[in-house]
Amino acid sequence: MRTTLALQPVIVGAGPAGIRAAQTLAGYGIKPVLIDEASRAGGQIYRRPPVHFKRAPESLYGMEASRATAVHGAIDGVVGSIDYRPDSLAWNVQDGRLDVMHGPTQTTRTVPYRQLIVASGATDRVLPVPGWTLPGVYTLGGAQVALKFQGCTIGSRVVFMGTGPLLYLVAYQYAKAGVEVAAVLDTAHFADQLAAVPAMLTQPAVFMKGVYYVGWLRTHGVALHSGVRPVRVLGDQRTSAVVWEQDGHEHTLDCDAIGFGYALRSETQLADLLGCRFAFAPMQRAHLPERDAVGRSSVAGVYLAGDGAGIMGADAAEWAGELAALSLLADEGVHIDADRVRKLERKLAKLSRFREGLERAFPFPQDWAAHAPDELVVCRCENVTAGELRQTIHDSGADELNRLKALSRVGMGRCQGRMCGVAAAEILAHAVGKPVQLVGRLRGQAPIKPIPIHLLHVASEGAGA
Ligand SMILES: Cc1cc2nc3c(=O)[nH]c(=O)nc-3n(C[C@H](O)[C@H](O)[C@H](O)COP(=O)(O)OP(=O)(O)OC[C@H]3O[C@@H](n4cnc5c(N)ncnc54)[C@H](O)[C@@H]3O)c2cc1C
Repeated sequence: MRTTLALQPVIVGAGPAGIRAAQTLAGYGIKPVLIDEASRAGGQIYRRPPVHFKRAPESLYGMEASRATAVHGAIDGVVGSIDYRPDSLAWNVQDGRLDVMHGPTQTTRTVPYRQLIVASGATDRVLPVPGWTLPGVYTLGGAQVALKFQGCTIGSRVVFMGTGPLLYLVAYQYAKAGVEVAAVLDTAHFADQLAAVPAMLTQPAVFMKGVYYVGWLRTHGVALHSGVRPVRVLGDQRTSAVVWEQDGHEHTLDCDAIGFGYALRSETQLADLLGCRFAFAPMQRAHLPERDAVGRSSVAGVYLAGDGAGIMGADAAEWAGELAALSLLADEGVHIDADRVRKLERKLAKLSRFREGLERAFPFPQDWAAHAPDELVVCRCENVTAGELRQTIHDSGADELNRLKALSRVGMGRCQGRMCGVAAAEILAHAVGKPVQLVGRLRGQAPIKPIPIHLLHVASEGAGA
């Protein structure tokens, strides 16, 4: 059924979730506003290079080329019938008004909404290691963005370390691009991965892709080590080597760049500013905004889709985006296809077991805080070390993360804790002997990402509305 309504939903995020949400609404004759801080739609996995770059989807997206083409086709097909705003960062939200900065013109505007779909995706989960602030150390996502978006690499002899499926994928992509991958250092143990096989076999095609990447790296002579603990990055002006520990022995390996990360972390700040209820998700070791099976948050008119409300992967993001849009329509009294809703719900439920398998295969290194030395810089923006955090906790008795932030400035800088928040919570939990879910989470603060300071003035004067 097609209908037109006097409503204008706003979607934040033009990744797979946001694109499918926009396409679904457009299919019902509605013109949503689709906002994304990136210059081209596609999100993380299907990130498109600048327009003048000419690389075939197969070389950019490998086995995901047909899905990438389908998602790009979906946005290209509706871009004329929606209000698509690229280069636009949603930096604040309050009372039905979204503050959005347009990057190229450095201006900010207020976008009113009655219904909001937040599809803000995820970013790398970072656990620092001494030396991580040296030039040449990147997150896995950053390393991948360099390759996909800028067509360049982070170094010529690269080590990838941490854990998660992205670890092997990015190593494979670099090796395929001709870079020497000196080693892949996985904190997970091979036994973890074996134990997870039955759950991962619930999605055999995805599982086999992972097996293929690992097999390819092995047969191309890349050293794969599991059960390791990164100890430090060495270098004077820039990265020159990495030291890691395995079975009680330290090893040193020369390299000129490192890509590291420990799976992904949902971008939840907008949901937080919106007042959505959060709950601790043990599997993802994170506080996440609650959503029901069809994407409704705890706040009326606010829907959550994709990795921004819990890491589920790109296919799930597409389904969740469509589902959130259908829920929004149903809540506005539009007659929607109930069979389609049930089908999407079933597909999403089926993926849950696979996700459990992934978490089991690449577990969070729970002993990380115990090994973090006092001199480790945890918060790069404010230059706060693990030792300073421990001292503050000891002196003040702080046992809650926002209190620790106020006293130590951890998470108070440009990244607003997006990079250091996980590590700070782990240090605090370890220091006070509590499970990490009991030390709280950093509250979202506007601007959720850096904006020029004069724009704050413009926004507070209401001139940008
Ligand atoms: C760096 C990185 C690399 C990845 N690479 C792979 C991969 O190679 N293969 C794979 O299978 N999976 C990969 N993943 C996971 C995969 O990208 C996600 O599962 C999938 O893209 C989720 O889709 P999404 O629509 O929920 O979010 P995303 O694809 O992350 O899209 C979110 C969009 O929201 C926009 N956004 C976020 N906040 C704001 C804001 N405040 N204002 C405006 N716009 C905003 C972002 O610019 C982005 O375009 C990667 C994830 C990350 C973080």
